[in-house]
Parts: sequence; structure tokens; C-alpha cells
Amino acid sequence: MDHIAVVGAGQAGATLVEGLRKGGFGGRLTLWGDEGRLPYQRPPLSKGYLLGEVTRDRLQLRPAAFYADLDVEMRVSDPVRSIDARARTLTHDGGAEGWDALVLATGSVPRRLPAAIGGDLPGVFTIRTLDDIDAFAPYVRNGGHLLVVGGGYIGLEAAAVARKSGMRVTLLEAAKRLLSRVACWDTATWFADLHRRHGVDIREAAALDRLEAGPDGAVARAHLSDGTVLEVDAVVCGIGIAPATALAEGAGLALDDGIAVDAMGRSSAPGIWAAGDCASFPWRDGRLRLESVPNAIEQAEAVAANLLGADAPYAAKPWFWSDQYDVKLQIAGLNDGFDNVVVRDADGARSHWYFAGPDLLAVDAIAAPRDYMVGKRLIEAGRSPDRDALRDPATPIKSLL
Ligand code: ADP
Repeated sequence: MDHIAVVGAGQAGATLVEGLRKGGFGGRLTLWGDEGRLPYQRPPLSKGYLLGEVTRDRLQLRPAAFYADLDVEMRVSDPVRSIDARARTLTHDGGAEGWDALVLATGSVPRRLPAAIGGDLPGVFTIRTLDDIDAFAPYVRNGGHLLVVGGGYIGLEAAAVARKSGMRVTLLEAAKRLLSRVACWDTATWFADLHRRHGVDIREAAALDRLEAGPDGAVARAHLSDGTVLEVDAVVCGIGIAPATALAEGAGLALDDGIAVDAMGRSSAPGIWAAGDCASFPWRDGRLRLESVPNAIEQAEAVAANLLGADAPYAAKPWFWSDQYDVKLQIAGLNDGFDNVVVRDADGARSHWYFAGPDLLAVDAIAAPRDYMVGKRLIEAGRSPDRDALRDPATPIKSLL
């Protein structure tokens, strides 16, 4: 193999080039990106970076010299425009290049509110890239009233940071409650209370009708479908993300909630692989696509190894985290299909355990690192604790292992 092209210079792309070199790949290695920056960490963007506690330099995953030492061609200001799977070429603004293997690590893009209801007005932000945050930061510094649309983890984290910075915050959730896609009632209620205690005006089952501009052309008012009109200074849109599949689609690759790959990370086209937020991989009886940093890293490592012949199926061990105010939420496992939740409240730590019948699926640990650790180990071992013992605060958590 002479040339491996990695498309997408985020966490997965950076992990791939590093893994390929460390795994012994000696050919030409290119990393293509469209953000004009070396790969950086996204999680601190909407937290420490926005609050001014983390500097821009500290966001970078690796310094330029690191990639130079690895002899990776960093084409991070050179968007790939199309891929020809049969001819094994890609095009960019400077022409075409051949490749022997190509990895798509294109990530995901935030959903936006439709332009028809004012979703593209100045002052309406999504939270994903450094540019997004740099554009939003002056509004946070100036205070005023922030409207957050969407009560998922992105919206809630944005609400927390804005409150910490002194903005007034209203959060609209279209569904009956917060976190309805990803968490049980107990977790949603716990976080709704936390935000209300911090002064966020949370409105559930609240639909946004349209955003309206003020005299300067920027967003100034939000009309809710119940007739309420809110005066706003900025809007954050946290209504979910979609896998970035345009290149894959143009190349005729099979898609199934993202780029469909096999357990090795191979797409439907020979020589093309995918990893990270953009890829859906086999999982139990179906497919799974994970939007998380841990998955981007672990799947990229697996794909790098498989490109070099490891032949090792990717075994995902899903875990996630979210930081809101001074609370760290840690999540192990996936709760799909749960039918009962055990609440554990012991030693000042709170955790919500998702079961299908007696089988443990996932745990949400709220400022409860030991519960998280125990839950993660049980889930990865395919074991389930006794639910009565788990519920009983007198049971030491570690005795459940
Ligand atoms: P994210 O990763 O952006 O937090 P989620 O899908 O987990 O994405 O959460 C997005 C939340 O936004 C969901 O709870 C969903 O019900 C809510 N939502 C989607 N569209 C709207 C809308 N137009 N107005 C208010 N809430 C919305």
C-alpha cells in the first residue's frame, strides 16, 4: 500500500494517522480537513474554553511538530470535494489524488433550525467547532438573555455555561421532558431540578414557532407556538446531530444511519473504511452509531490496526460523560430496551441503573465515580447485580462486583 488518505481531521482522523504510523505503516499518509486547523479536542469547547479557563493552545491534540515527525501530510485546509471509489481517487480544490486505501472520519454536523423560521439569523449558534464557539463567545461575555433550543446534553451544557457566565437562560424542549432520547425519567428530572436551582427557565413540551430579527438583522425575538414572545440576545440550537455522509453518498457507499461498515471498519466499497461519529457498525442484531469521543478514539484505533492486517473486529464498549455546573455525569452502556430503573442513593452519590428484566444494560452515575466504575465493569463482563442489594444504601457498591 503506497498511500492512505484519511478524510476528516477531528478526533478519529488524528487517532487514525497516529495509529497507522505507530502500527508500522511506512507509505504516504495524508490527513484532509476543512476546518483549517490541526485536530483539536471538542469537549472543552463549550465548557472550559468558552468560560476562558482553557486556552486555545491547550485544545490542540498534538503540536504541528508531532505530525511532522510522523511524516503525515496535514492537508487540514484542503477539503475533499469528491471520492471515486472505483478509480481510487479523490478530488480537492487543487486537483485529484490517487489513494490505495481511504478512511472516512468525517464526523457529524449539528442539525439547524430551518431558515424559514429564522434558523440562519445572526445570533443563532450551533455548538460543534472552534469557529462556532468563537462566534458565540462575545454574546456570553456580554450577558443578556440566551434561548437554548433543545434539552439534550448539548443544550443543557450550553445552558450551564451561560448561567455560570451570568446570562439569563431559557431552555425550550419540544418533547414532554428533557433528555427523552437518551435518558430515563429519573435522570431527566434530576437534571431539570439542577438547572432550575441554577436559575434556568426550563420549558418542556414547548415548541418554537419562529425566530424574528431586530432592526440590526440579528435574532431579537422568539415566538413560541403557545403565543409567548421572548426577547432574546442569542439562541443556541442543540437539537441533535447527523452523520456527515455527503462524500460517502457521492461515492455510492451503502448508508444505514451513517456510513455502514463491517466489524473491521470496511465500507461497502473495497479500499474505503470509516470510523467515528459518521460510521454505523454491526452491533447485536442491528447496527450502532455512537456520537462520542471515546468511540471516535477506540474505533479509529481498531480501523488503523485492521488496515494493517490485524483482522480484529471492533468491540465497542460505549461510555459517555457530560459536565454541567460542578456535576460530572458518567454513563456506561446503552439503555436501549430498558424496562426498569433502579435508583441508588448512597454516600452522597446518586446513580440510575437501567435493566431489561433482571439484566443490567446501562448506568447513569451522577457525581458517583465509584458507581460508574462498578457499573461499567459489570456491563462489560455481561453481569447483573441483584437489584435489591443495589438499591440498598447499606450495600457497599464494590461488593456488587
Ligand atoms: P444533542 O446531542 O444535540 O443534545 P439530542 O437528540 O440528544 O441531541 O437532544 C436534542 C433535543 O432537542 C431532544 O430532546 C429533542 O426533543 C429536542 N428538540 C428537537 N427539535 C426541537 C425544537 N425544534 N424545539 C425544541 N426542542 C427540540
